[in-house]
Amino acid sequence: MPALPEYKTRVLLENHGVPLAHASFYSVMPEILPKPVVFLKAQIPGATSRAGKGLVRRASTPEEISNGLKELLAVDNCHGVLAADAVDIRKEFYAACLLDFGDGNRLPGGVILFSTQGGSGIEERSGSLEKMYFSLLNPPSAEKIALQLPDVTERVELSGFLHGMINTFIGYKLIVLETNPIAVLPDGSLIAVDCRAEFEKQSVSKEDAHLFELPESTVDDSTPLEKAVEKINAADPAGTGFFRSSREQIPCGAIAVATNLCGGGGKMLWEMATGGRSDISTLNESDTSGGLSAFKSYRILRVIMSQPEARVLILTGSGMAFQSQYHLASAVWKALRESPEPLPCLLRFGGTDQDKAMELMAAVEKSLPVRIKSFIPEIFPNAMIDQLEELAADVRVKQEYVPAKGELAFELNSPPGRFIYHPENNPDGIEPSCIRECPTGFLLWKNGRIEANPLAKCTGCLVCETVSLLLGNGELTIDLDLDLPGEVG
Ligand code: SF4
Repeated sequence: MPALPEYKTRVLLENHGVPLAHASFYSVMPEILPKPVVFLKAQIPGATSRAGKGLVRRASTPEEISNGLKELLAVDNCHGVLAADAVDIRKEFYAACLLDFGDGNRLPGGVILFSTQGGSGIEERSGSLEKMYFSLLNPPSAEKIALQLPDVTERVELSGFLHGMINTFIGYKLIVLETNPIAVLPDGSLIAVDCRAEFEKQSVSKEDAHLFELPESTVDDSTPLEKAVEKINAADPAGTGFFRSSREQIPCGAIAVATNLCGGGGKMLWEMATGGRSDISTLNESDTSGGLSAFKSYRILRVIMSQPEARVLILTGSGMAFQSQYHLASAVWKALRESPEPLPCLLRFGGTDQDKAMELMAAVEKSLPVRIKSFIPEIFPNAMIDQLEELAADVRVKQEYVPAKGELAFELNSPPGRFIYHPENNPDGIEPSCIRECPTGFLLWKNGRIEANPLAKCTGCLVCETVSLLLGNGELTIDLDLDLPGEVG
């Protein structure tokens, strides 16, 4: 899921009348410098906690502005620098719009996360966020929003501001829209001082495409693992499978965490839980969402687990996923069985089939080569990370996975996979249980062999293999070939 940097997100908000701090964008060194005092902000898609990385600087003299612009424009993958006027801030708020997938009592829609305490450190205060759910088809008026807001002096101004945010979020079909801080100026008016958005490429309309276009990076600095993910996506393009290694050094003494985050909600929750912490080092950005198959979830997980510095894997989404969590859990189980260096895991399953996912992990937990802890969606990542240190103390396990030989039943191109039948595990030659459990009817039992039904489609859910190993006798396995750099086996 691509991230839109601040200078692009500002345009979307501006188009819906959301007031912003005055700023100018420079993609090259300007002939006339902006007037001090300004904040210089490097525009790098997906970069968070920029202040701590020196990517945001206060410049109060022409010399500081000139030097700051030169240095930030030279940063890798930097699209340009936003020079924002310094403002006199009396109070700060925080707001973010996210998709809400609903639950038994609430239809899917949007949700505003709001806090009366914005600015840096919001991550530590994530527990104080208020949630305001709204309909995407019939969004609330400013007056209705005002009724839901906490009792603050700026209630009227805030309701108008949030109304503009909701219109921007819906108008551009965004996945995430965040403003932090929303500053209260001395005259009581509000402005967004910083903002960012995330979107799905498929959702961008033709008329708006120019607003979402990002310059191509001039340097291909892809890591071998990122290239491996490119290959996975080229072979199986359905759904989002995003992976980017962090380019930063792991701080001394920090726990290096590999992440499998699902959707914008997962990313935001993880950033909110860890953004202000130097004792946790996030090794990679990731996003598996948008209806990807369990085959692809497995392959991306294998990439994520193959990061040599990693001590623990954390997997979480928003807690309201459409993707079957049972299929995702099947992918996790397979990755833990087959990875040469599986990682201890903190796994948070939330959404469709979450109970079945928890049951599966509970059933296989004792047979795994590493420790895992599974969580329900009501447990937020900031509580999960209390367990990190304990799991990170484990010595990293190495194992050699040798697939049982069997016979090739058939090979699929979409999603790609080789289905292997093991007649030695089915000596009576009766129909194995995995055939009946295939949710699409794709598997047929004919003449004592497994065949593909030409009238049905395989969705790559992994249910057949999971059932075969867990309830059957291992009659069917699926070979999801991978050639990962640095892995053995
Ligand atoms: S054959 Fe059926 S159960 Fe197996 S992965 Fe395909 S859809 Fe899922």
